[in-house]
Amino acid sequence: MKDSVAVIGAGTSGLIAAKDLAGYGIRTNVYDQKTKLGYPAKASGIISINGLKSLGIGYEKAVTNTLYGANIHAGEAVMRIMAKGAQAHVLDRVRLNEICQDEAARAGASVLAGSRIDAKKLEELHSESVIVGADGPVSEVARFFSMGAIKKYTLTYKAEFNVDVEDEKTVDLFFDNSLAPKFFAWTCPNAKDILEVGIGIGAQHGNSKAAFDRFVKKDEIVRMLQGARLMEGYASMIPMQTARSVVDEKNEVLLVGDAAGQVKPTTGGGIVFGGSAAKLAASVVAEHIRGGKRLDTYERLFKKGFGTDIALHGLVNRLYSSLDAKKIGMLMNISKTLGFEGFFSEYGDMDRPSLMLKRFFLRGMAR
Ligand SMILES: Cc1cc2nc3c(=O)[nH]c(=O)nc-3n(C[C@H](O)[C@H](O)[C@H](O)COP(=O)(O)OP(=O)(O)OC[C@H]3O[C@@H](n4cnc5c(N)ncnc54)[C@H](O)[C@@H]3O)c2cc1C
Repeated sequence: MKDSVAVIGAGTSGLIAAKDLAGYGIRTNVYDQKTKLGYPAKASGIISINGLKSLGIGYEKAVTNTLYGANIHAGEAVMRIMAKGAQAHVLDRVRLNEICQDEAARAGASVLAGSRIDAKKLEELHSESVIVGADGPVSEVARFFSMGAIKKYTLTYKAEFNVDVEDEKTVDLFFDNSLAPKFFAWTCPNAKDILEVGIGIGAQHGNSKAAFDRFVKKDEIVRMLQGARLMEGYASMIPMQTARSVVDEKNEVLLVGDAAGQVKPTTGGGIVFGGSAAKLAASVVAEHIRGGKRLDTYERLFKKGFGTDIALHGLVNRLYSSLDAKKIGMLMNISKTLGFEGFFSEYGDMDRPSLMLKRFFLRGMAR
């Protein structure tokens, strides 16, 4: 029985897995091709407060802003969902990665930056260690162990601007399939003087930077960016489907995070689901090494814990992807008339639509 673990990828998912594995007393090495881990931050850092707490990371020093709600724009319609209390933090992703590195190292894991793992090195590591593939959306581990390539992606481009932000507590989401086909565009106050502007488009719909350039010409965005100074901008990608299998046939390799497509297809958020899966994977691997538990237990537990929510997010993504802005706007106006604006404000859950539905039916029964 192999008694050590090689984690490939030192993003949040790999580092959370490594911290827990080392905490269980398992010899754990994390390999990442980057020399400066977590840099540059090509992704955003909007994470639900409940989700963050569930990951057990000391994230507080990475918080740059706190959000209470969202304005959802489609055509002429705007739906404002505003909770009474704080819903999400915006985190500095580079700082978050540093915190995760520190925690993994303090738990006893070795984090090896500047170590690209190719097929030859994977074979070598596989002969002596259980492999946890946390190597992001285009996973070498998934490819090498024939775990089924992810084929559906959203291409993104986001940039930060130095500007006086009008409303620090609210994120704005823009649904318009002619501008952001199969996804959406957004503005997010990363801090009181930093506005992030971003867009995602289905991978078959061209170039995300060109879509971004069109988005920033919209009247609302031009107004928000008056006097702004561009700080930095990056293109990236989000996996839009879960991997065919997150444990290989021989029961020796697991995938976590973006490598497994453990992302909410509505918003592309992957920190909470990927991090939760990493914790689950670590506990199963520890029991596998200590007592022979089968690794595919991880696949079953992940589906049980998160399958319904990922499917519900997928359903919402397919709905807004199939409608033009005017129709989405009409649907929003109807749901406002039915009182859903207030309902989402009170019971909305960024990560777990299944909990929201439960609250909806319980409220109905209580009446
Ligand atoms: C524009 C954008 C906005 C986003 N906004 C949010 C958000 O607001 N909230 C949220 O929760 N999520 C968000 N996400 C998603 C989130 O960023 C990802 O789900 C998360 O980063 C996944 O973490 P990970 O550790 O699984 O993978 P990654 O962060 O991709 O880490 C993978 C690591 O593996 C390394 N690696 C890859 N190949 C190899 C190799 N062969 N050898 C060694 N190392 C390798 C890479 O260098 C990298 O460090 C966003 C994504 C994008 C693109």
